[in-house]
Amino acid sequence: MIAPRTPRTVVPAYVGIHALPSSHASAVLDIDLSAIAANYRLLCDKHSSGRVAAVVKADGYGLGAATIAAHLARNGCQHFFVAHLTEALTLRPHISGHFLAVLNGLIPGAEADFIAHDILPALGSLAEIAAWTKAARAADKKLPAILHIDTGMSRLGLDAHELSAIADDPSYLAGIDLRYVMTHLVSSEIAADPLNQRQREKFAAACARLPSAPRSITNSSGIFLGPDFAADLARPGAALYGINPTPTDKNPMQSVVHLRARVLQIRDVMAGETIGYNATWTAPPSPLGPRRIATAAIGYADGWLRSLSNRGTAIFDGTTLPLVGRVSMDLTTFDVTARPDIVPGAMLELLGPAHGPDDVAAQAGTNGYEILTSLGARITRNYHGA
Ligand SMILES: *Cc1c(COP(=O)(O)O)cnc(C)c1O
Repeated sequence: MIAPRTPRTVVPAYVGIHALPSSHASAVLDIDLSAIAANYRLLCDKHSSGRVAAVVKADGYGLGAATIAAHLARNGCQHFFVAHLTEALTLRPHISGHFLAVLNGLIPGAEADFIAHDILPALGSLAEIAAWTKAARAADKKLPAILHIDTGMSRLGLDAHELSAIADDPSYLAGIDLRYVMTHLVSSEIAADPLNQRQREKFAAACARLPSAPRSITNSSGIFLGPDFAADLARPGAALYGINPTPTDKNPMQSVVHLRARVLQIRDVMAGETIGYNATWTAPPSPLGPRRIATAAIGYADGWLRSLSNRGTAIFDGTTLPLVGRVSMDLTTFDVTARPDIVPGAMLELLGPAHGPDDVAAQAGTNGYEILTSLGARITRNYHGA
């Protein structure tokens, strides 16, 4: 059966011009730097035993590492972590003079770049320790580094065998200015997981075998595990950006991001008609007539995940609107029947205080980290509260 041709709702383009941002961006990400600074201060209060670093890897969890790190540096943060050397090299000029370390460790052959730009590697294997020691000998001075101990993650860091090797032979660390010994928690967002205590004990035992040095244990969630996990330096990332570090409780962090996408077109879709690739959504018979569908200028190429198809939502002025059909590369469709005042040019809210990264993650079947770090380069980023 062929559906009758659908009448298009006629709406003059961009009637909602007063609602537009000054730019002509199709999708806009507003980032509240004062909320990030407030989140930093809360984490400092919770980790009063020591200092608090900022983890700004993956371009500051998608929000812009350079701007955020410079803002946090102005707000008293002195320690910064990234994952890759390339990230550290890009960030260095924005936080000159501050502690900057690479969590992924030392890449063989990159010693000169680490040294020239005052970047610390988190040494996580005997091979990395040997390479850094060799570079120290060549430079004729001790070189600063972090020592990464694996206590259960089994990705990076010295294993038990390697730990014994350096514990039994202090010459391994002779050329190294050991700034911190660190480990990384496996399940810190699940406070009751016995793995947390097991890792803490393993780490304490490892530190007891090593030369005395400041310690670093916790990520965002770890800071909320209580005084047992306090150390000299905490390494939060996610919580700075508003992700809930205590997922079973109310989010103590301030909301940081606001993502909006522009409505390009509005159309009426009659009962029985379908929307999008593979026709995964069909307009239901409705006594109220056709469904009013808004096509918004954001898609999975922008990090608005395809797994949100038929599951996500947008918010417009307090009304929650269901995402209908497949998310495509550049476009997403919403049923806006409930809001006849939505017109082309209107901005639909996709992330915000009432609909944060954790909420969207629950709809998409992932975590808030993936929601933020997926946000693409095509989205215009605006900073507020500097
Ligand atoms: C990413 C990372 C962090 C920060 O973790 P959050 O959960 O985002 O706070 C801390 N330490 C290491 C080793 C990491 O890889």
